Amino acid sequence: MASYDTTAGLARDASDTELRTSLLRATLEHAWLTSPFYRTLWGRQPVDVHTPADLPALPFVTKQQIDSNLDDVVTTKGMPDLIQFTGGTMGVASLRYRTEAESRWLGERNRILEKMSGGPRKLCLHVLVPFNGPEIFVAEWPSINVPLVLEKHFRQVDGLLRREYAFDGWERRVSTIISGLDRLKMLTTYLLERGTDFSAYGVRTIVTSASFLSRHWRRILEESWNARVIDVFGLSEVSDGVAVECDRCTGHHMAPIAIAEVVSLKDRTPIDAGTGILVMTGLYPFVQTQPFIRYWTDDLVEIAPPCPATREPGLRFRGRRSQSVVVDIDGEPSPVLFPTDIVDVLDDLPEVAIEPEVIVQGLRSRDIGYHKWRVETRQTGQMPDVLVHVELKFSPCLYRDRTRTLREQIRTDLLSRNRCCARLIEAGRLSLDVVPHEPGTIDKVIV
Ligand SMILES: [Zn+2]
Repeated sequence: MASYDTTAGLARDASDTELRTSLLRATLEHAWLTSPFYRTLWGRQPVDVHTPADLPALPFVTKQQIDSNLDDVVTTKGMPDLIQFTGGTMGVASLRYRTEAESRWLGERNRILEKMSGGPRKLCLHVLVPFNGPEIFVAEWPSINVPLVLEKHFRQVDGLLRREYAFDGWERRVSTIISGLDRLKMLTTYLLERGTDFSAYGVRTIVTSASFLSRHWRRILEESWNARVIDVFGLSEVSDGVAVECDRCTGHHMAPIAIAEVVSLKDRTPIDAGTGILVMTGLYPFVQTQPFIRYWTDDLVEIAPPCPATREPGLRFRGRRSQSVVVDIDGEPSPVLFPTDIVDVLDDLPEVAIEPEVIVQGLRSRDIGYHKWRVETRQTGQMPDVLVHVELKFSPCLYRDRTRTLREQIRTDLLSRNRCCARLIEAGRLSLDVVPHEPGTIDKVIV
């Protein structure tokens, strides 16, 4: 097993690859010794898996396998310190067991990273998500934790951001907000609706996660707060917030507490360029109660060019495979349109119907929620025909000119955002059309 000191030392001196390799050995040994599920799945101890590149020797693990064998997956038979739930956006929410030990390790890692950056410790305000169970231990990330459900909570946040604090070794004002994207949109909108002067706060950094951040919302957040917005991709199953957006390249980089593999849509073998399925392994000791080893996320990711800062390629998260359009091009399953493309385009258009997930007391806007759309692929002759169905806030049969303009705009914006799709259309190998629909006719899509 990797010792506490080894991990701390490696975090300071070693590359991410070296740290991952060292922790992978401990992860596999831990799972083999303590998880009946992995013992049965592997059949023999994986002593020949030494580095992340050796991982394809082990089978994938799906959400269904974990959910239906949960008692055998977990490595301790006692009550976990914390029971959380995944978002459940694709059906039933999964249980996730965690212990305080995992939290202490994550906290230790955060403190090492903080020390490396120098200066007083950052004072963070953490907006809690009330729907997935308690989400954070104090040991993991000391912060001012606030709910955001009732109108009084918005006023509390306003007060907490304005005041000064006198904690030895810490910043005097809140400089960082950590929040799921939905709550962050609500907070920002609430403050904008009341004409708040954001310069009265000292917020310099906003860390957001849990949903796709469109260009429209990034612009609103950056301009309102005058702060740097950092998007974090995290799977609630594997570990919280593990891939952080890089300001040097266009990708997200996986923190060394997890291993990301990208595998081919065609034969499920590892790829180092293009778009494939993300497979995740959470590393010991950060993930130990409920191991996720070669977890099949069913999320599509694109491998970005090597980063000038880290020399490793980042990942671009493109959305769930089930919400994407994957067509056969020259015998290869090829993803040609992603849910993130569609949301990025629709977010700019106030005419497109939105279903709010929750109506929060005090918030006037009804424009924070999920767009109502679906994609359909038809095979007409030799060429796949992609239809993007979009519900509008008004009746298309009563406002025909406006509908025609909007339809053309959505199509043009989709093609300018997804050049691969545009090239296939120019080559006569694909067609794309936008179909407007009456209010109340399409279900929301959570991306
Ligand atoms: Zn980078």
